[in-house]
Amino acid sequence: NIEISGLTKRFGQNTVLNNIDLCLKPGERVAIIGPSGTGKSTLLRCLNFLDAPDEGRITLGDLKVDAARASKADILALRRRTGFVFQNYALFANKSARQNIMEGLTTVRGWPAAKATDRANQILTRIGLADRGDSFPSALSGGQQQRVGIGRAMALDADLMLFDEPTSALDPEWVGEVLDLIRAIADGRQTMLIVTHEMQFAREIADRVVFMEGGRIVEQGPPDQIFGNARDERTRAFLRRVG
Ligand code: ATP
Ligand code: MG
Repeated sequence: NIEISGLTKRFGQNTVLNNIDLCLKPGERVAIIGPSGTGKSTLLRCLNFLDAPDEGRITLGDLKVDAARASKADILALRRRTGFVFQNYALFANKSARQNIMEGLTTVRGWPAAKATDRANQILTRIGLADRGDSFPSALSGGQQQRVGIGRAMALDADLMLFDEPTSALDPEWVGEVLDLIRAIADGRQTMLIVTHEMQFAREIADRVVFMEGGRIVEQGPPDQIFGNARDERTRAFLRRVG
C-alpha cells in the first residue's frame, strides 16, 4: 500500500498543502482534480521530493519516509520507486529519445549502459516509437515527446506513477495518442496518481477521483459519485465551471 499522511508544504507564509492524507491500494488509479493554484502539482512533486515537504509521512510498501527528517537515501529510494511525467515533457534536449528513456536507469538505478539500452528499446516499442530511438526531442512532435516522457517513467517499473497534467501542453491533435498510452498503462493496473483537467478521461480510467481545493482534499470517491452526485458544494461548483 501507498500511504500519505499529514503531508504539509509551505512556500514562505503560504501553506500550499495542508495536512493531506491519501492511501492507494496496489493497482489503484487515482485522478486528482481541482482549481488552479490548489496544490495538485505540489502534492505530486512532494511525493518524490522535487519539492521537499515540510511535514508528514510517505509510505511506499516497506519504505517509510518522514518528511521532516528525510535522508538523501530516503529521497533516492522514493525516486527509484516513483515515475514522474511532467506537463512540459522535461526531456533532455541534447539526448535522443532512447537516451532520455535510459537516463533514469543509468543514473537513479545504476544500470550498465547495455542493460539500460535493451530496456529502452523495449519501452520504445511499447510507446510506438521503435523506429525513432535516435531522434532528438526537437525532431519529434509534441505527442511523441510526451510519449517519450511517459516511456522514461515506465522504464523505471515504478511502484507509483505520477502524471501532472500530461496532455495540457499538447496541441489538440496530439492529445489522443497520449491519452491512449496512459489508458494502456492504466489497463495494466499500474498504480497511478494523475492530475488531469480531462474530466471524461478521469471518469473513464480512475478507480477514485480526488477533488482538491486550497491545499486540502475536499472530497473523494468513485468517478460516478464525484461526477454525478458530489456531496460538497465546492466540488459541484468546480465541475459546473469546467463543464
Ligand atoms: P494548476 O492547476 O494551475 O497547475 P496546481 O493545483 O497544480 O495549479 P500548484 O502548482 O501546486 O497548483 O501551486 C499551488 C500554490 O503554490 C500556488 O499558489 C503557487 O503559486 C504556489 N507555488 C508553487 N510552487 C511554488 C514555488 N516554487 N515557490 C513559491 N510558491 C509556489
Ligand atoms: Mg499544476
